[in-house]
Amino acid sequence: MLHPLTPVLDVALGNQFGIPALNGNNLEQVTAIMEAARKTDSPAIIQLSRGARKYAGDWALRALMFAAADQYPEVPLVVHLDHGNEPEVCRSAVANGFTSVMMDGSLLPDGKTPSDFWYNVAVTRHVVEIAHAKGVSVEGEIGCLGHLITGTGEKEEEQGAEGKLTRRQLLTDPDEAAEFVKLTGVDALAVAIGTSHGAYKFTEPPDADVLAIEHLAKIRAKVPPTMHLVMHGSSSLPQELRDVINQFGGKLKPAWGVPLEAIQRAIRIGGVTKINVDTDNRLAITAAIRRFLVEQPDKFDLRDYWRPARAAMQEVCEKRMVAFGSAGQGPKVREKLGGYGQKS
Ligand SMILES: [Zn+2]
Repeated sequence: MLHPLTPVLDVALGNQFGIPALNGNNLEQVTAIMEAARKTDSPAIIQLSRGARKYAGDWALRALMFAAADQYPEVPLVVHLDHGNEPEVCRSAVANGFTSVMMDGSLLPDGKTPSDFWYNVAVTRHVVEIAHAKGVSVEGEIGCLGHLITGTGEKEEEQGAEGKLTRRQLLTDPDEAAEFVKLTGVDALAVAIGTSHGAYKFTEPPDADVLAIEHLAKIRAKVPPTMHLVMHGSSSLPQELRDVINQFGGKLKPAWGVPLEAIQRAIRIGGVTKINVDTDNRLAITAAIRRFLVEQPDKFDLRDYWRPARAAMQEVCEKRMVAFGSAGQGPKVREKLGGYGQKS
């Protein structure tokens, strides 16, 4: 069975843990996430982006998400649309069985021009009406992702602000966040605190000037106590994975991500419950495939290299489930969802 995001995050908020929201594009990634959730007894949030829908097609993704639910009946599973850029994209996701959608109205439909507050309110409110009518949860975004000092953020999946952003755009205003929640009725809110998408988040280990974890407490103080806060761009960019990629022919430039301790603090002081992690899994898969193809140049069966790649991604997923505290929380979430265990 697939479940809406809200009741799953409610358990996380009530028990002070976070859940990694992990992107899937194909069978291998979805299996890696579900195996990790099964092994650690964690709920699973699988995110499918517009890019994933374009890559795999809605029919295949739809079959994949229901297959995951059937094959792992004990895992509380949410399937979430990542960064819907306009209401129609969210509407079609709802029609395809997604149980949660993000309407990112912080940018215009082109995915690169920052919008204004009232545009954001209008499109998000509209999606809330469409989604809630079908029991689907909605995540909104207020503020733009990007580096707090340079004012730029990396584009990913055709989504990301272009040009130089002001600090006011880059750091979510707590009062504006509270107003946005009240006017739209969203279930979860993505906020900007200095993180950005992709493999180049920070050029040195991030301190409070570039990663404003403490700011989350100010936002938390203004929004309703039941509101779910979401951190995007929260990969940690492990050095060991980057090293393997470069050792086997890759050319990644030095970069730092969001340290796991910073995320744990965000969960503790900000009550953050959904943490988006994608790049770390991409790095794990790429490192494993690069290593395999160099070390075993006579092999050509794709299952030979996808098997270690999938295992490498599963390992990252398990580590995040443990670090964010969702490991072992399956029983509490299943209880909240009605003690189900049956197939969909
Ligand atoms: Zn994002």
